[in-house]
Amino acid sequence: MSQKFRAKKSLGQNFLQNKNIARKIVDSLLISKEDRVLEIGPGQGALTEFIRLSEPRELMLLEKDYNLAPELEMKFPEAEVVQADALEFDWTSLEKDRNWKIVGNLPYNVASKLIWDIVSRSGVDMCVFMVQHEVAQRLTASCGNRQYGGLGAWVQSFCETKYLFKVPPSVFVPRPKIDSGVVRFISLPENKKPENPSGLAMLIRFCFQKRRKQLGNILKSYISSDIEEWFESEGLKLSDRPEALSPLQFQGLYNCVKNDFPLDL
Ligand code: SAM
Repeated sequence: MSQKFRAKKSLGQNFLQNKNIARKIVDSLLISKEDRVLEIGPGQGALTEFIRLSEPRELMLLEKDYNLAPELEMKFPEAEVVQADALEFDWTSLEKDRNWKIVGNLPYNVASKLIWDIVSRSGVDMCVFMVQHEVAQRLTASCGNRQYGGLGAWVQSFCETKYLFKVPPSVFVPRPKIDSGVVRFISLPENKKPENPSGLAMLIRFCFQKRRKQLGNILKSYISSDIEEWFESEGLKLSDRPEALSPLQFQGLYNCVKNDFPLDL
């Protein structure tokens, strides 16, 4: 086994070997020549080869592996290669240029955290990410659904999400044990996004930490006549559990509790 292969394998990454799937993922991003495209974890360039064919106005490749970054620079001279950890990337830097589309076959261990961070940034119009099948289900589940949780409530406060297609383990090397899924995220108009994202994030986390409990119990320190009226106007009950609230209802609930929240976090 070569030194390079050992280095790649030690990161626990699965490289896409099927060009049809790679093309299908990139096609889902609907790239035009006006778009700026950022790819997270391009690896050996399986997706990048198809991105370049769309000739976006700008192409940025964010790759953590310092062996792969120079190879990408040689292979894709039109791209800006940034050798960095996507978890430490300053996503607010995309806000100045706008019209960004982000794509990646994301490493499983960082996918949820990255998506949580990225979707709340303005300047990003659309993303297409390949993630674990179960994570794809959670990102796209509607409220009331078994898979719906804090991640889905948060992400869908900023984007419309759609599960596009499932990808079997056989198209990767090394072969993972699980299925993957490709999800598209289309940013909501700015005036439909939450006014106070950090407060909303705290409320969603607070509620889903105790997802088996009833909302009346979870929110007992905040119950007021305003909250009771709000529950009634939304057709909700204090005995409902967090998964009963849609992303928009979490924003409504936040507006009721924001003056007191967080009391005891
Ligand atoms: N896009 C390629 C493909 O589909 O074959 C590679 C996908 S592989 C699952 C994930 C890639 O992300 C690897 O190249 C790995 O080095 C890179 N990577 C892992 N963690 C990263 C991080 N935190 N930030 C940026 N890149 C990361």
